Amino acid sequence: MTKPTGHSCAASGCEEQILLSRMMCATHWRILPGNLRDSINTAYRRRNMTKLAQLAVRAVHIIDDAEQMEPLPGFKKVVNDGS
Ligand SMILES: [Zn+2]
Repeated sequence: MTKPTGHSCAASGCEEQILLSRMMCATHWRILPGNLRDSINTAYRRRNMTKLAQLAVRAVHIIDDAEQMEPLPGFKKVVNDGS
């Protein structure tokens, strides 16, 4: 029996392959506040896809903001140098 293969992390620009049951790779997941992670897990368990989609948008914004402040160690940030 083969498990379904994964998908890529929800964070913008991240191509880390993760399980279908995860929204983000471990690196990005750790950035999220605990209460948001709990809400995401609850929405997932309840198969509340509308709620989950809303939470995903919030999560992606939080990660975008965090990465603008400081690049994560080991995270390859694409710098747009075309000023
Ligand atoms: Zn990621």
